[in-house]
Amino acid sequence: AQHFLARAKAHQGLAAYLAIDEDVTLAQARAQDAALATGQAAPLAGLPIAHKDVFVTRDFPTTAASKMLAGYRSPFDATVVARLAQAGCVTLGKLSCDEFAMGASNEKAAIAALGLDAPQPAHNPWNPRHVPGGSSGGSAVAVAARLAPAATGTDTGGSIRQPASFCGITGIKPTYGRASRYGMIAFASSLDQAGPMARSAEDCALLLSQICGPDPERDATSLDHPAEDFTRGLQGSIAGLRIGVPAEFFSDGLQDDVRTAVEAALKEYEKLGARLVPISLPRTALSVPVYYILAPAEASSNLSRFDGVRYGHRAEKYADLLDMYKKTRAEGFGDEVKRRIMIGTYVLSEGYYDAYYLQAQKIRRMIADDFQAAFQQCDLIAGPVAPSVAPQLGAQTDPVSSYLADIYTLPASLAGLPGMSVPAGFGGAGLPVGLQLIGNYFQEGRLLNAAHQLQ
Ligand code: GLN
Repeated sequence: AQHFLARAKAHQGLAAYLAIDEDVTLAQARAQDAALATGQAAPLAGLPIAHKDVFVTRDFPTTAASKMLAGYRSPFDATVVARLAQAGCVTLGKLSCDEFAMGASNEKAAIAALGLDAPQPAHNPWNPRHVPGGSSGGSAVAVAARLAPAATGTDTGGSIRQPASFCGITGIKPTYGRASRYGMIAFASSLDQAGPMARSAEDCALLLSQICGPDPERDATSLDHPAEDFTRGLQGSIAGLRIGVPAEFFSDGLQDDVRTAVEAALKEYEKLGARLVPISLPRTALSVPVYYILAPAEASSNLSRFDGVRYGHRAEKYADLLDMYKKTRAEGFGDEVKRRIMIGTYVLSEGYYDAYYLQAQKIRRMIADDFQAAFQQCDLIAGPVAPSVAPQLGAQTDPVSSYLADIYTLPASLAGLPGMSVPAGFGGAGLPVGLQLIGNYFQEGRLLNAAHQLQ
């Protein structure tokens, strides 16, 4: 823990951490040392880990990188945080992300990282002029730059997989409902899932085994599916495994350097005895408009709780209650969050609900059905995570073009399927490329095994 805290401080310029508290971390570490000495150690005793700042924590501030929650401290720990602590993990601190996890570059963080005076995105350690990806950008940077051996992230539409891909690490989003959402600040509740980001599939397997499991009293969407030891299947042969390669994931928008790296990874799988099966996910392109209707709709409802009364920021001067709400929200939310609230409110409003929200729900179902048809022909699906390597900081100015770049991660999110990113070499500017693996429901073990075989 001391080693990683020292590295976190020495590399403040990467802007990965929003909060650390040495005393808290070292007290937790000493408690784990004591447990180790008695022979009563938990499975991950003493393993330092850092959490994305959308998981609420009792011992550290929680901001979701938003001014709205500046100075907020939760009276309880998120289930994911509590389960990892129970397993012996020691918390190193809280990690930067896009505000309320809305974004794909970490550039929407609105809270200054440790030791810096103004908000800025975490930087990609492979080339600090480039973004680390997002929204779990700080998590990816912390792991890639060895400021933490592992981190938690959340994935609503790709926020674990895409920053893992951009920073050359491994990350997995489990089947929707396998990880409790209790204490994870809600963005789009029907999509949000927690998962680990680490150096290898093996490390992810260790962590995911602790993260998953039912939480029926605290998360109504938590599935009644038992926890599993995902490390067990890691040595299994993948000879004969049928890997589906969706044509739509290799369309014109895919940059050549990414295509080359992904194809090379697929060749590796063939050498290991897997069989590549051409498949089709015909509604891949529709996943972008569908997601950018449904996620903002849910966000507009979830974020109504930030009203200046219950949490965090409240405007100083106001005339009456309504004025207080308005000023608090105008001051507390950044532009991207406001954009999503407005889109969400619009698509849910009378007269537009049928045209947008309901249509999107129907297509969401079709996207899930397309996957089930594909899984008749293959055991898992592989393709790129993102159309390009990490863009330069400041290069993405148009929200729509950034939304479009989520095209390969959104389908699995909408279907609630497990997905992961595993390093697959490098593309332009010496930046990493990730291979995305998507499994059927509850096939996390198969994904982790396949990823492990590449490492
Ligand atoms: N980039 C997507 C968005 O901006 C996904 C974010 C996420 O998964 N949290 O909504």
